Amino acid sequence: MTQPALDLVIAALERIREKEDRAPRASRTTLARLRDAPVAASLLEACASSAEGRLPATNKAALLIAVRERVCGCKKCGHLACSRTQTVFGVGNPNADVMFIGEAPGADEDQQGEPFVGRAGQLLTRILKAMNFAREDVYIANILKCRPDMPAGSFGNRPPTPMEMQTCRPYLIEQIDIIQPSVLVALGAVAVEGLLGTRATMRELRGRWHTYNNIPLMITYHPAYLLRNQAPSEKRKVWEDMLQVMERLERPISEQQRNYFL
Ligand code: URA
Ligand code: SF4
Repeated sequence: MTQPALDLVIAALERIREKEDRAPRASRTTLARLRDAPVAASLLEACASSAEGRLPATNKAALLIAVRERVCGCKKCGHLACSRTQTVFGVGNPNADVMFIGEAPGADEDQQGEPFVGRAGQLLTRILKAMNFAREDVYIANILKCRPDMPAGSFGNRPPTPMEMQTCRPYLIEQIDIIQPSVLVALGAVAVEGLLGTRATMRELRGRWHTYNNIPLMITYHPAYLLRNQAPSEKRKVWEDMLQVMERLERPISEQQRNYFL
């Protein structure tokens, strides 16, 4: 880890230590160790010392800050590093039970630095609400952290290329490894290709459980697809997939939710 990233982690841990009186927080020993080399080893140790082998929420937040810092300065795709307004890392609860994975930032996300804030994002937020989730409860990220560049003067978005996805994928994997969600939701075939490397049609993929690294993975349509195809049958399919997610998370489902059409 670079020194600026480490400084950020330490500062975040110190803030948490000062502000929060309940566990888990970083101990003074952990903070002291973090200041000394070897950095990576002590960070891992700090995480491993938590109960049940799961990372405490405060450490997750600090670890995510460190990854975000690296993404912020990433130039692995030279063309995207030049064309982006900013990187779009991810948003939500570092301790989330469920993580939603999209494709790549669009124009709105590139402007605002947050995933899923444009039209498709607003629909995702509505779907979350119907599940009784606020955006702050879950974690939302994309395969690509930079907006795919578009020829000058053209509108809309292009899907990320397999090479771009392969290049950026390690950051998403780090996010998943830190957050350790109980359930993953991949939004659309491109997100699935980026995560699993599998190319298949949504008809084949959606509506049933897959796994990524032993984590249950639900695949459903991208909200942008629902905006293009307004048929109630397609919306109902997404909602049925989300009901399966809620069941898996053991969240209560009301009769009204069961009968709901997005
Ligand atoms: N579509 C995506 O896949 N991700 C976003 O962040 C916005 C739109
Ligand atoms: Fe780096 Fe990902 Fe952006 Fe490529 S898309 S420059 S890998 S952050």
